[in-house]
Amino acid sequence: MLADYLKPSLLDITGGEPTLWEHLPELIEKAYATGLHVRVRTNLVALVHPDRSHLPALFARHRVEILASLPGVTPCKVAEQRGASFDASVGVLRSLANLGYGSESGPTLELAYNPPLGELPRPEPELAEEFRAALTPLGVHFNQLRVIANVPAGRYAERLKASGEYQAELGRLAEAFNPAVLGELSCRYGIELAWDGSFADCDFNLGAGLRVIDGPRTIAEALALADAGTDVRAAIASRRIAFGPHCFACATGVGSG
Ligand code: SF4
Repeated sequence: MLADYLKPSLLDITGGEPTLWEHLPELIEKAYATGLHVRVRTNLVALVHPDRSHLPALFARHRVEILASLPGVTPCKVAEQRGASFDASVGVLRSLANLGYGSESGPTLELAYNPPLGELPRPEPELAEEFRAALTPLGVHFNQLRVIANVPAGRYAERLKASGEYQAELGRLAEAFNPAVLGELSCRYGIELAWDGSFADCDFNLGAGLRVIDGPRTIAEALALADAGTDVRAAIASRRIAFGPHCFACATGVGSG
């Protein structure tokens, strides 16, 4: 099994919306049984459906960390990006709080906020304070807020190109380039495994259609290298990253991604 060679500290399950995937509970149970810590990313709204209402309790039982995206702390702000979903999202967050999420001893709940087009990520402590002030009276508790810039790759890049804003957005991000945050880029300490068994440097590169350019390219290649005695973990950790123009979104201002 590849995990035996890679010894990951975290299995970070992303999508699309991973809670829609029918095999998610099975994967969580298997990872938990091997002692692998799991994070699930969700847009919250998917958890409102009765078919998925059992998932929060399953997450809590297996100490699954949740990274939930919330585009704002008012119905209007959320509606700008995700329609009239504020009440539904808050309802799910409140049920998570009832399961202990966001408390000191409970499983971890992080909120993810994407700044709208034209805004650079603001410092997280400052924004977290605003989120806490608005959400605590609603019975919502969270451990940390993560501010993640919208990366102009995949469908988002297509939308920007269609509206003629792509070049301007890239220029704005490049102008705010901050080399001091390069050591914190998620591609420097993680790797993305796609549904087809191939690797990409991160979720954004996967969305942009960029696969790894160095080291093993698929699970099969990684296993073959491991069987031949190569330290696959080291080979993956020391690989060259396939950077593209969209990477400025991660390395801008206070950093993101
Ligand atoms: S800098 Fe580029 S490769 Fe690294 S995480 Fe960001 S988008 Fe991915």
